[in-house]
Amino acid sequence: MQIEKVDTFPLLYKVGTPYGDANGYKKYRSCFLIHIVTKSGIDGWGECIDWLPALQAGFNQRIIPYLIGKPASSRLQLVDVIKKWHKRAAAAVSMALTEIMAKQAHLPVCELWGGKWRDQIPVYASFQSYTDSKDWIKHSIQRVEQTISEGFNSIKVKIGGRVFQEDLSHIRLLQNMTEEKIALILDANQSYDAAAARLWQRHFLNWPNILWLEEPMSIGNLPEYHLLRASLPVPLAGGENLKGAREFLPLLCQNTFDIIQPDLLHGEGVDDFRSTLQLARHFGIRVSPHSYDGALSRLYTLFAQASLAGWSKMDGESIEPVEWDVMENPFSELISLKPVNGYVSIPSGTGTGIEINTDIIKAYLWDGSAYWQQPAGK
Ligand code: MG
Repeated sequence: MQIEKVDTFPLLYKVGTPYGDANGYKKYRSCFLIHIVTKSGIDGWGECIDWLPALQAGFNQRIIPYLIGKPASSRLQLVDVIKKWHKRAAAAVSMALTEIMAKQAHLPVCELWGGKWRDQIPVYASFQSYTDSKDWIKHSIQRVEQTISEGFNSIKVKIGGRVFQEDLSHIRLLQNMTEEKIALILDANQSYDAAAARLWQRHFLNWPNILWLEEPMSIGNLPEYHLLRASLPVPLAGGENLKGAREFLPLLCQNTFDIIQPDLLHGEGVDDFRSTLQLARHFGIRVSPHSYDGALSRLYTLFAQASLAGWSKMDGESIEPVEWDVMENPFSELISLKPVNGYVSIPSGTGTGIEINTDIIKAYLWDGSAYWQQPAGK
């Protein structure tokens, strides 16, 4: 079970029409895959996200030389070392070593973890609502309409990137188009202060389909979150950028949120991510994982959610949904899972039970160019 080889695949895609949230537009989507092979020929894939040159240098110069010759079965120890050098890389290594151990045991990942509670997980369609077009609202409504026609029954859209009245017009048009029958998440990406966040409150009283309000204010301002949650008529959610189970503890202890949103790619690996989900269960707080970047990490997120006991015994309400990126992003096709009527079926084969689409890897391999720099004159 010695690690013999680690290959890396930095992928880059330039978005046709940049889209975004309250923090600006995304002009690129990137993805960093790793492939670990043991001396006995068992392999596993992992994924992380960050600035590609930093990941490439980190793996080439430090992580790969460290991993070669180490036992693949010592996942926790290996990840514990790597997370101190590069936390984002730890996620990728933890995924690949988990797949290797599942294959070695001839088990699906969920069975390695103790077994699934359910075969399907609900997902919500996640939009980046803003473009720099004057017609952004029209484009957003069209995209949502198209996505709903494909079977999604819950969606997340952005607020906080425009003045309140403009965002309100957008949401009112969405509500009219869907007749308030689609569960709706509003995500402000930490763009408001408490007074601005409260502008939404009276509208929430009239809308029965708001699933939650996501990160209206800076996550650093917990006292304001506590005040807001005390009077907000809809659930409050957040935590996508926190760096692992340890950072969620104070939020859970202080009842900051109704729903926490850990992201596998932002923490300390698969095992730490699963600890966060379990912590939420211990505290009786719902957990709806954030999973915007990366199809492989989304697959592990689905495995983790499938292996988690339900939050409720209410019929049909047992497990919280996982985010599903529906924007232009070819890396969604790296894994051939597709939601049907808002649910994804968990693969049941050995390991992850699913093959990575290597054609996508070949098509979008980053050429090493300085993609983050604007051409002169722009
Ligand atoms: Mg968010």
